[in-house]
Amino acid sequence: MREVSPNVTSLDATEKSLRPTSLDDYIGQEDLKRNLKIFIEAAKTRGEPLDHILLHGPPGLGKTSLAYVIASEMGVDIRVTSGPAIERAGDLVSILTNLKEGDVLFIDEIHRMNRVIEEVLYPAMEDFRVDIVVGKGPSARTLRLRLPRFTLIAATTRIGLLTSPLRNRFGCVFRLDYYSVEELKRIVLRSSRILGIEVTCDGAEEIAKRARGTPRIANRLLRRVRDYAQVLGDGKIDKSMASKALDELKVDEMGLDEMDRKLLITIVEKFSGGPVGIETLATSVGEERDTIEDVYEPYLMREGFIKRTPRGRVATEKTYQYLKLRRESPIEGFLKD
Ligand code: ADP
Repeated sequence: MREVSPNVTSLDATEKSLRPTSLDDYIGQEDLKRNLKIFIEAAKTRGEPLDHILLHGPPGLGKTSLAYVIASEMGVDIRVTSGPAIERAGDLVSILTNLKEGDVLFIDEIHRMNRVIEEVLYPAMEDFRVDIVVGKGPSARTLRLRLPRFTLIAATTRIGLLTSPLRNRFGCVFRLDYYSVEELKRIVLRSSRILGIEVTCDGAEEIAKRARGTPRIANRLLRRVRDYAQVLGDGKIDKSMASKALDELKVDEMGLDEMDRKLLITIVEKFSGGPVGIETLATSVGEERDTIEDVYEPYLMREGFIKRTPRGRVATEKTYQYLKLRRESPIEGFLKD
């Protein structure tokens, strides 16, 4: 396995150990998996590389993991990079020319790739070639390089930001959806087995319920709850330990954390329930607009807390009910009347 990605932190190392290694190991996303299995089998039977695949959906839902799983199911190597990491067209050309026949190239956050560099991808994806200009001025000439047939797997949290020439060059486009509590519970149980953490079914379910439908959050909460269980208990995670620890971590029964609540409170209290524009909202809560749009908003919308209208974000009845409940809750210190 070769990687181009620069920053490997210790968190990445744990994430890697928790990554599923085969499609059967990859929990949930059943429709997607069913389709993928067919594509993989068909490509293998024909002895061809897979068509280029675009994966989209909120962060932490398993796009990177799926790219690794696809490469491993195809029995090929994977190279990993990301849109912002490719700074010059030459970087991309060098990655492409170093691929082997059938390899998977995974580009994360492809919506953040420079548009000029993106154009190198078009002929590479379509005809497996790159054209490079050598020399300057009148003596400049174009060199055409043939590439091995490879599969590009690209991931994005913002499919709307992709140009249509790029989007149209993917043979398959898959959307990853939030996971059910049942699926997240299986993920928590699987991760706890790998990490050697003792957790009861109830305990795993409690973590799953509060994980915002997101495997990465479920795994993160599992590690935090383990800390509590080790220090305050005997290391075992049952329902009451999980729920106590998650309360301490200020993750509530709806899976909302402090920033989610801050967003809802801001819309309701500062902007009388909205509509409020995303820029104004971002400034008010002191968070990047992109982070709100990529991370917080999709879940709050899916759960029916906010609605998007042409004039901005609006709080729903569910938000009012939720905040009223919160006001009576003793753990909500920051909610003032
Ligand atoms: P993304 O690329 O969408 O941000 P990742 O693939 O990095 O998400 O997933 C984050 C973590 O969540 C992974 O390290 C993996 O442990 C876990 N994970 C994601 N999807 C699944 C899944 N379907 N089954 C089991 N674990 C998963």
